[in-house]
Amino acid sequence: AYDVLIVGGGPAGAAAAIYSARKGIRTGVVAERFGGQVSDTMAIENFISVKATDGPKLVAGLEQHVLEYDVDLMKTQKAVRLEKKEFVEVELENGAILKSKSVVLATGARWREMNVPGEQEYRGKGVAYCPHCDGPLFKGKKTAVIGGGNSGIEAAIDLAGIVEHVTVLEFGDTLRADDVLVKKAESLPNVSIIKNAMTTEVLGDDERVIGLKYTDRKTDESHLVDVAGIFVQIGLVPNSEFLKDTLELTNRGEIVVNGHGETSLPGVFAAGDVTTAPYKQIIVSMGSGATAALGAFDYLIRH
Ligand code: FAD
Repeated sequence: AYDVLIVGGGPAGAAAAIYSARKGIRTGVVAERFGGQVSDTMAIENFISVKATDGPKLVAGLEQHVLEYDVDLMKTQKAVRLEKKEFVEVELENGAILKSKSVVLATGARWREMNVPGEQEYRGKGVAYCPHCDGPLFKGKKTAVIGGGNSGIEAAIDLAGIVEHVTVLEFGDTLRADDVLVKKAESLPNVSIIKNAMTTEVLGDDERVIGLKYTDRKTDESHLVDVAGIFVQIGLVPNSEFLKDTLELTNRGEIVVNGHGETSLPGVFAAGDVTTAPYKQIIVSMGSGATAALGAFDYLIRH
């Protein structure tokens, strides 16, 4: 059995692996796709001490660093079940069962997509999901934000300071964001808000996004908005489906953790975007991976 088994090979999982292995304990990592969301990222300019890098480079660095240590790295393996018996057991899709004294869950999240024509084609070519990450790429350009919840309105306020104009498209007839955010957004001269708007298509010129199409749900009329960037802010989906009924999740599927990365199941820790920890970012995930690994080590020396 492992001392610590880490499920997930994104920044949180990689940090947890390094922190565990450095304690000299038996460490394993199972990852469906090593690198996680970072593999899909073009420019990374907020990873402190590295002025600019890109996803594939950072992922290669993560893997190299992990493999400096005695870590069992099991790539392209998906966990489908977790159960606590004498050990914590993690079942893989291929039927194998891994046993460990403690587990760190770091399975991350995925952005909820609009599922409209053009979205996949122009992903990374104008269709973006992270305003903190990609906002500056649209400096001086027109952008749209899809979604009028807290993250959408925060994105609009954030982008308004960088881009020429932001159009927020909300599906419903009211914005779901907090009042103070809505007031702030409405006070900005370069933000406009359209309600009852169902985005139907991302338009591009084969290279980049040039606009979007939406239907006014009241009049059924179709409209065009001329934008270079589209920020989709309709939610983040935690990769926690396989943990339902085994430990405490919020109604949005985030694993509930405390300040030590402990979940509701003793010996099972969690880190990164899959948890309730706020602000989903690389550096934040790495910090929480370190916390969860140290939490697991603390648990091991007491059991
Ligand atoms: P993830 O990166 O999501 O990794 C999860 C890992 O778990 C993966 O290895 C995955 O394959 C694995 N996994 C999932 N389910 C299972 C399972 N059942 N069994 C086994 N393995 C599983 N942040 C920044 O700080 N700066 C940026 O510039 C930036 N740009 C971004 C751009 C894009 C397009 C996206 C999508 C995100 C961006 N982010 C950025 C956010 C950042 O990538 C995430 O906050 C960070 O990757 C979260 O790390 P994580 O380790 O928690 O999860």
